[in-house]
Amino acid sequence: MRSTLLLFAATSTLTTSLLAAPLAPPPFDGKTWWKHVQVLADDGMEGRETGSPGLRKAEAYVVDQLTKDGLQPAGSNGFYQPVRFVQREIDESRSSAALVRDGKDEPLTLGEDALLSTRVDLAPEEITAPLVFTGYALRVPEKGFDDFAGLDLKGKVVVFLAGSPEEIPGPLAAHYQSALERSKTLRAAGAIGMIIIPNPASMDIPWSRISLNRTHPSMDLADPEFNETAGIKTSLMFNPAQAEKLFAGSGHTFAEIAALGKDRKPLPRFPLPVSLRAKAGVKHSEVESANVIARLPGSDPALKNEVVVLSAHIDHIGIGAPVDGDRIYNGAMDDGSGSALLLDIAAHLRAAPEKPRRSILFVFVTAEEKGLLGSKYFAAHPTVDPKSIVADINVDMFLPIVPLKVLKIEGLAESDLGDRAAAIARSLGVKPIPDPEPLRNTFIRSDQYNFIRHGVPALIMSVSAEPGTPEQAIFKEWLTKRYHAPSDDLNQPVDFTAAALYEEITRRLLLEVANTPARPAWKPDSFFRRFATGGAPAAR
Ligand SMILES: [Zn+2]
Repeated sequence: MRSTLLLFAATSTLTTSLLAAPLAPPPFDGKTWWKHVQVLADDGMEGRETGSPGLRKAEAYVVDQLTKDGLQPAGSNGFYQPVRFVQREIDESRSSAALVRDGKDEPLTLGEDALLSTRVDLAPEEITAPLVFTGYALRVPEKGFDDFAGLDLKGKVVVFLAGSPEEIPGPLAAHYQSALERSKTLRAAGAIGMIIIPNPASMDIPWSRISLNRTHPSMDLADPEFNETAGIKTSLMFNPAQAEKLFAGSGHTFAEIAALGKDRKPLPRFPLPVSLRAKAGVKHSEVESANVIARLPGSDPALKNEVVVLSAHIDHIGIGAPVDGDRIYNGAMDDGSGSALLLDIAAHLRAAPEKPRRSILFVFVTAEEKGLLGSKYFAAHPTVDPKSIVADINVDMFLPIVPLKVLKIEGLAESDLGDRAAAIARSLGVKPIPDPEPLRNTFIRSDQYNFIRHGVPALIMSVSAEPGTPEQAIFKEWLTKRYHAPSDDLNQPVDFTAAALYEEITRRLLLEVANTPARPAWKPDSFFRRFATGGAPAAR
């Protein structure tokens, strides 16, 4: 690792002196990046919750830095693009859930057995409906796969295990598990609700921590054009440790289902001998926030009208239930690290003598943690001509906590952007790999997915490890302990050399895409190519 870093530092110095060009800015050292993380993840930013004073303060810092570095404002209001949200907060004192067996209620304890998910606009009336276990609840026409085949789901609540069968490639399986696709499938089948059981084999956050913050408000975009879950009246997440309750008397056990789901094996589907009775009291309010957008203008007379987007989310989850006495969820890695990287690269490119030919758009999105909402808004209503966006390189929680030897590229096989990223990684001694853990659905779990849905080739890269290595165990432990916990803060081990190398890969990819005349293109066999209809929004 160290030798690789020295090698590229030496190479760039050599090139500079050979060409007798003006002095290039010094190579990344991880320290200038970390200085920005220190600001963004400071307790004073209060965890950067969407709509909070803390996030406004963090965005003001970003705007200040961008202004100082001489970037152009590219929002709709200076650097800002305002976005309106509805906020939904569950009131458990007005909510209840029970399983109904042989006409008798078996009450569920909210928090211990299950939680009501406000990611869906829960109906105000009490819902009673039969339950049907539908495997992974996936319908993937491209693979002839249908978990709903032969089942009567009209007026029923669908119970399913999060995950997918092996026969469906990870990106496609993730796509069909997105809120939009899931709701479409449920509505088409006439189902009125869902109970999702997290797959114990792929849970990043343990149930105890999920439950701890279950009453934390959810948000959705206020504009009705974005209402994806209309018609879904109830939605629960069920604690896998309590899930046998759902299967009692069905002839199946959750243990059997979980064992199959762990290895992405096909799952049985069958009606359950219980119904759900659920009632949700939800408080609604309005929230305003903004994306922050800046442009580094390109140098080529024609290509400068096209943009390469470098994106990261600046929001995090704010102040929540205390863990070890700490209530501030600082989000240093998630995604202070990505926002800081955008600032660091912006300053670096601005100082470099050679200007990119295409323009570069730095997009700091809000409300990622609420369901990729800021990027959903931007991708649908970009502040630049939608056709001018040639690619999105997204940076979210890239986790420089081990030396960078292996780089996961999400979207590697979907467009030639993946090939370009892989070649750059290899040239710096880093091994590019596709997603080794498709069950975690990371393909759809950050903002690049919204660009993909609008036809823009996009990817996200992370420091990674081969399965079964000690490094993989370090990542797993980080997710269990620090992911979406107050301890994702400034007091955690960081590998500055890994961060610097990751930044260099990102910088080179950005310049490669900005300077190569041909735009990144979808692979002919990529499923996602269908969304590229001349820059028009994806069909909803
Ligand atoms: Zn997050």
